[in-house]
Amino acid sequence: MDDATIALHDLSEQVAACPKCALSKTRTKAVPGAGDPHADIVFIGEGPGYNEDQQGLPFVGQAGKFLDELLASIDLRREDVYIANVIKCRPPNNRDPQPGEIEACAPWLDQQLDIIKPRMIVTLGRFSMSRYFQGQTIGRIHGQPKKIDGVVVVPMYHPAAALHQANLRGTIMEDFKKLPGILRELSQSAEEPAKPEPVQMKLL
Ligand code: SF4
Repeated sequence: MDDATIALHDLSEQVAACPKCALSKTRTKAVPGAGDPHADIVFIGEGPGYNEDQQGLPFVGQAGKFLDELLASIDLRREDVYIANVIKCRPPNNRDPQPGEIEACAPWLDQQLDIIKPRMIVTLGRFSMSRYFQGQTIGRIHGQPKKIDGVVVVPMYHPAAALHQANLRGTIMEDFKKLPGILRELSQSAEEPAKPEPVQMKLL
């Protein structure tokens, strides 16, 4: 195993035993995250639901199936990306995570991103969006990439939203289709020598 794989594995073990907020008392299993430790793209959802809490894996319910479809639509599989959540333990009755819980859990996600060093972060839903786009609404900025601290962040609706609102299904699918093009632009920008006029990406 390489350094990133070992570091993520160690971190997952620490998350599994984390006592830092009250959700540690009600969880069945913590859900640290899963995927390629060297992924170009990290997807950040909200928090575990019932199925995730039972299995200790992210996005394994209906929303997870839709996420698999979305990934397949751009020729990716789960093993090609990394999938994590803003909070690692399930809030009781699937209530919204509380600010104190998000704050307590944030260092775990920070460490995961430090280890993986993705080129792109895709936020799924409003709680992960808020990490990067304070005061924004998902309806206004979904699908629009923005470079933040050297990483391109793309806010998107949560796949679960499409299960409740059928009209969002097409919107999420269209936003996903933009990801390969954004990654290609990033690769070209990295390969090309410095120019007076840098490659322009359509950013917020
Ligand atoms: S939600 Fe995060 S901070 Fe709270 S117990 Fe779980 S891993 Fe720890």
